[in-house]
Amino acid sequence: MTTIQSRLQDVTQRLTNACTRAARSADSVTLLAVSKTQPAEALREAFAAGQRAFGENYVQEALTKMEALADLRSQLQWHLIGPLQSNKTRVVAEAFDWVHSVDRLKIAERLCEQRPAWAAPLQVCLQVNISGEVSKSGVPAEEVPALAEAVARLPDTRLRLRGLMSIPEPADDPAVQREPHRRLRELLQRLNDRGLALDTLSMGMSADLEAAVLEGATLVRVGTAIFGSRN
Ligand SMILES: *Cc1c(COP(=O)(O)O)cnc(C)c1O
Repeated sequence: MTTIQSRLQDVTQRLTNACTRAARSADSVTLLAVSKTQPAEALREAFAAGQRAFGENYVQEALTKMEALADLRSQLQWHLIGPLQSNKTRVVAEAFDWVHSVDRLKIAERLCEQRPAWAAPLQVCLQVNISGEVSKSGVPAEEVPALAEAVARLPDTRLRLRGLMSIPEPADDPAVQREPHRRLRELLQRLNDRGLALDTLSMGMSADLEAAVLEGATLVRVGTAIFGSRN
């Protein structure tokens, strides 16, 4: 077994343990392997161990890896988790399965228009600035309901709003780690109370995946715990 494969096993075990603590079934959380800066070969190793969903931050880097892994395309899920500029929406709409970083209507509209008719609907999350001032990316929580309702009205044959994503301020204390995750869960609940049907909470990374699972994460984005530290 390679290092990546044994780390992947460790992460899966952490997720299983967290699900047990949270009284949730282990299959209620999807593991997204965050592969930014990693070479295509590292993804291939993870694939050989059963990993199918990969998260990338930079569009150009992702496209290069997609080409190197084209033989696996039908089995892979590609998620964009990094910032998205409007001049990149077309390639993203054509190449990715998910986008977690939608933070304004204009981007969602362009992705929707540019999603090819032959493809399955693009699955999207709104990125929420859940820690307030600390992070510059993401929609402020108070603006999320209006944006979510507008995005949910776009044609769902092309684009489907699935939920919310956040990157909270790092914290060491598990209790502190849980606070922003809890706020994101409550925000999702409020949207569903207003009539939306969102099922995805994209939250939790290498250092806080347990806290995220305890607060209801349905997808955790894990990089260093799988691939090692990035240069
Ligand atoms: C890099 C990154 C991750 C993974 O972070 P790790 O601490 O390496 O697990 C998750 N989400 C986003 C948006 C990232 O940019």
